[in-house]
Amino acid sequence: MRGAVLHAPGDVRLEVRDDPTIVEPTDAIIRLSATCVCGSDLWPYRGIEAVQGPAPMGHEYVGIVEEVGSAVSAIKPGQFVIGSFFASDNTCEICLAGYQSSCIHREPMGIIGTQAELTRVPLADGTLVGTPDPPPKDLIPSFLAASDVLGTGWFGAVAAKAGPGKTVAVVGDGAVGLLAVLAARHLGAERIIAMSRHVPRQKLALEFGATDIVEERGDEGVARIKELTSGLGAHSVIEAVGTQESMMQAIRSCRPGGHVGYVGVLHDVELPGEEMFFSHVHLHGGPAPVRRFLPQLVDLIWNREIDPGKVFDLALPLDDVAEGYHAMDERRAIKVLLEL
Ligand SMILES: [Zn+2]
Repeated sequence: MRGAVLHAPGDVRLEVRDDPTIVEPTDAIIRLSATCVCGSDLWPYRGIEAVQGPAPMGHEYVGIVEEVGSAVSAIKPGQFVIGSFFASDNTCEICLAGYQSSCIHREPMGIIGTQAELTRVPLADGTLVGTPDPPPKDLIPSFLAASDVLGTGWFGAVAAKAGPGKTVAVVGDGAVGLLAVLAARHLGAERIIAMSRHVPRQKLALEFGATDIVEERGDEGVARIKELTSGLGAHSVIEAVGTQESMMQAIRSCRPGGHVGYVGVLHDVELPGEEMFFSHVHLHGGPAPVRRFLPQLVDLIWNREIDPGKVFDLALPLDDVAEGYHAMDERRAIKVLLEL
């Protein structure tokens, strides 16, 4: 099969890789219908995370089940399925509490590498969620979004306690931030402030339900949020970047007693203890337990109640994966879909 491999920062290539096979009886093999490039793939691509190349890339996937192991019972060959970036058993205590991305048996899909024609999915019964029938082609981008960025934005909104009567601020205008806006809207938030200085992303944020746009960032961004909230700060803030500046912008934009849901992968972030102590802000986040939300998200997409696939503003054949990374690195694309 063909699949993307990162050799060194800036050097992604499409190569012939071995076809995956059933390793454990709980595995499934799926043929991907589409895959994509994630903002978090840019950390190793930019050399900010060490690359132990050559490394298969990709952790987002939807597709048709080709084969299942002998212990798989719920998932059947021929089914269209969606899974998340951590495989999980969905039966341990941590999974049952809704934290499948910390499952005691979790396996990261990023090591397997789903920017490819085929992928092995461990713990298939726990990991995968199927659709009632194979979906029409136009829904595939939305299901693919559910594999990570929609589920991650959704967790950010839930962790930030977005809901009726709440003012929500979203730090970050990548795919996750934009879909956090959609999630906050769906959860009934009254006011949603998207922090973005890029016009196409502002437009999408408004389409997804943002009521206000703030272009300022850092201390000036915090001051604008305070101005818009009678000096108090937002009830709910979703952090979808992962830098020191964005995390502090999120915490300082939140009112005492409010909640920050942080879902950008934090890199070299240190929190000042004394400021945290006096802020009275709740912090909750981490790698999103996307699996918790998948059944609901699959239903919403199947019934065309949400259209998260709009975050894909560039579609390229898998052969052009290098250009896909390049376009996202230069912020020419919000999110790149790779066609198969
Ligand atoms: Zn588990």
